[in-house]
Amino acid sequence: MTSDNTRLRIAIQKSGRLSKECQQLLKGCGVKLNIREQRLIAHAENMPIDLLLVRDDDIPGLVMDGVVDLGVVGENVLEETLMERQAQGEAAEFNVLKRLDFGGCRLSLAVAQDADYPDVKSLEGKRIATSYPWLLKRFMDKQGVKFKSVMLNGSVEVAPRAGVADAICDLVSTGATLEANGLVEADVIFRSKAVLIQSAAELPLAKQAVIDKLLPRIQGLQQARESKYIMLHAPKARLEEVIDLLPGAERPTIMPLAGETNQVAIHVVSSEDMFWETMEGLKELGASSILVLPIEKMME
Ligand code: ATP
Ligand code: MG
Repeated sequence: MTSDNTRLRIAIQKSGRLSKECQQLLKGCGVKLNIREQRLIAHAENMPIDLLLVRDDDIPGLVMDGVVDLGVVGENVLEETLMERQAQGEAAEFNVLKRLDFGGCRLSLAVAQDADYPDVKSLEGKRIATSYPWLLKRFMDKQGVKFKSVMLNGSVEVAPRAGVADAICDLVSTGATLEANGLVEADVIFRSKAVLIQSAAELPLAKQAVIDKLLPRIQGLQQARESKYIMLHAPKARLEEVIDLLPGAERPTIMPLAGETNQVAIHVVSSEDMFWETMEGLKELGASSILVLPIEKMME
């Protein structure tokens, strides 16, 4: 770790489900990175930012202890660490700067496909394997169901078959891993996305200035991903109906078409995607040359 306290320190996952998107996010913000395999730290070339590449489990603690200024981590890991540290009376302060649009998953209870599971009460007194004992306990306490926690840091999904547990509580995104292990999702106990968090420690102005630059850029990238640039030709006579059909379009630009008096060109930034059904509806109103384009960046 460098002792240079003027550079913003950001902890991200070294390798795993969040690392590619974290690096892309920073790249999208204009941060030029030179990440080398096997290195714990990477310096940005064009901004005063140092990246710490670590296991995702370490990120909440690094932020809460003020070792790094920012971190990107799944809410599942963040919430679990928070509860564990609070229980142990350790420092557990941080601020969530932004919920990000990747790393989506859910923490769910899963049981054997042939299990009798009318509801969560059927797990009363059972053994549940998980890497998230605190999140699981909070949920089960709320449901008033007593259980035995079997702590496993990996291969949770094989626990029932191995006779180690009766059910599991693990992360799910598609459910394919569960299915491959003869399990079915029974109850969702927590929904998670990646979040950008900041240490509670007060930052020197220079570092705060870098954060103030990054945040609107992240916002701009996220907004751009949700938006589309739409262009089309429409008959003047049906202009209002056409505009009504355009999704999330507030103030379209209307332009004349060279050598064409009955039609105009419409350009609009839409806050949502356009479905095929909408395009077909536009076509029925006489619209043509409909283009839906991705937007890379946005600033309002
Ligand atoms: P590390 O070596 O950094 O500890 P890991 O194996 O604990 O890695 P990953 O599997 O890379 O972690 O997942 C990192 C995070 O990605 C999870 O904590 C979760 O927030 C998110 N995630 C998104 N989808 C999934 C999924 N299908 N399964 C597991 N995690 C997912
Ligand atoms: Mg981990």
